[in-house]
Amino acid sequence: MGDDGIAREDIAEADLVTRRGTFRTVAFRDAHDGNEHLVLIFGAVRTEESVLVRVHSECVTGDIFAAMRCECGEQLDAALDAIVREGSGVLVYLRGHEGRGIGLVAKVRSHVLQDEHGLDTIDSATALGYPVDTRDFGPAVRVLKHLGIRSVRLMSNNADKVDALESHGIVVAARVPLLVPANDHNIRYLTTKRDRLGHELPHLGTYSNGRLGTAGA
Ligand SMILES: [Zn+2]
Repeated sequence: MGDDGIAREDIAEADLVTRRGTFRTVAFRDAHDGNEHLVLIFGAVRTEESVLVRVHSECVTGDIFAAMRCECGEQLDAALDAIVREGSGVLVYLRGHEGRGIGLVAKVRSHVLQDEHGLDTIDSATALGYPVDTRDFGPAVRVLKHLGIRSVRLMSNNADKVDALESHGIVVAARVPLLVPANDHNIRYLTTKRDRLGHELPHLGTYSNGRLGTAGA
């Protein structure tokens, strides 16, 4: 199977009415990672232009239960809001990406080290023998190509994600920042992503001694 190929038995689509409006939803099973992923398409996507796209990594605690220790849920909301505001766009929801790919049990185990020993999101994973990031964005690339999308404006703060898509032949014509406000619960996670994972988070202020500063104020 080539990069563009998703077998007929591995994909299905239907309308999905949500509180934000009616999306076209595409569920597909990726032949490489074996996971079932979901795409939400809003409006009339013009594949000859750069499409507004969010490639979102599954985070059950943040996305479904609105956990405040990470910003996943708020980013998911903000991306969907932006797509609806623009009138068209695509959200690719990638399963199997919990805790940057280490899985849900491992992620929650790492939370214990964060809460009880003050480790950050990276050190808590490595202390348990887990890799920092094992996410594979191949399924997103395959489904975008399947949908005829070759160029995107990617809603992300993560340059590595841009590189991952581009290295597989998706043009990232622009990176659209997806900045959610910091709070006392997520500030340490956000500053770690900024300082140790290279995420572009210019809205964060200084942070020291467990207190949240303010950016430019
Ligand atoms: Zn999360």
